[in-house]
Amino acid sequence: MSEAPHLTFDLDSRGASRGYLVVPGGIDRGELSLPVFSLNEGEGPRLLVTGGNHGNELEGPLIARRLIDWLPEAQTCGRVIVLPVLNPLAVQAWSRNTPLDGLNLNRVFPGRADGSVTERIADAVSRILLPAADTIFDLHSFGPTWNFPAAATTHPISDPDLMARTVRMAEAFQLPLTLVWQHNETAGMFDMVAQNQGKVFVCAELGGGTVGANSLAIYEAGVRNALLALGLVDGEPEYPTYRQQKSGKTLETRPSDELKSPATGIFEPRCSVLDEVKRGDIIGVLHPMNSLTAESINIRAPEPAIVLGIGSGAHVEINEGVALLARPLTIR
Ligand SMILES: [Zn+2]
Repeated sequence: MSEAPHLTFDLDSRGASRGYLVVPGGIDRGELSLPVFSLNEGEGPRLLVTGGNHGNELEGPLIARRLIDWLPEAQTCGRVIVLPVLNPLAVQAWSRNTPLDGLNLNRVFPGRADGSVTERIADAVSRILLPAADTIFDLHSFGPTWNFPAAATTHPISDPDLMARTVRMAEAFQLPLTLVWQHNETAGMFDMVAQNQGKVFVCAELGGGTVGANSLAIYEAGVRNALLALGLVDGEPEYPTYRQQKSGKTLETRPSDELKSPATGIFEPRCSVLDEVKRGDIIGVLHPMNSLTAESINIRAPEPAIVLGIGSGAHVEINEGVALLARPLTIR
């Protein structure tokens, strides 16, 4: 029996601490040590910031590192814990899931102490770090195969008060998009475990495509705006410009808003994220490549909507998602 998960430093000690969250070994591999930063300035909000939940979403770990650089100069109260990489095995493999056990970390929360390595990471975070925070920002992104605006997101929450507080927190990022995302595969998500404990959890989706300097600047400004709103740092919010005027929307999306490929082939996007489309407008075109006589198929908007995310041009299977639509938020 290996030892229990633990931190190599005391979260209650004042000032900045750097150490590790130790995830015990198991049958599949030995112990893991995840680097953790904590800055304790006494009374005030208790925030946990995590990145690298999915291993091919690398903006989050980079922004977490920047946060660790400037927080000691900026933080005036409260405690901020930063864990830049939740799943180092997935990040090292540039893979959404953990290669060793094939599991998606964001579907196994709260984890299992005697489970496989992904479940043990979730267990350590749930038991050691989650109780130490009232607000959690988990920094994701859409990865290289989608175009998606920088967004602060949540899922519908059954407690209306927590829902309202969570949407307000998400809007405080001042990102191009605030999104309430309803989908059917939420079991085991980090969000759910935190929200069930009454905590405010915002999942930032830091855009799609490759990691770039402009999107990182927007992302960093968003996280700083959220820290300002919490009162952890002083200063004025910045409103990053994103594609001229198209910023600051609060939208919702449902499972039926995902457009799927009608056939196997290459998807060609025909619109951009945050475009407003009418019923029947062409969102993209699917080109079957197995025969030159097979006709290309137009994929059209089923109703008026705003384009939330769109595949960035890739070979897709039949029924694979190629676009996500959205509409202004009505549930609050
Ligand atoms: Zn993710």
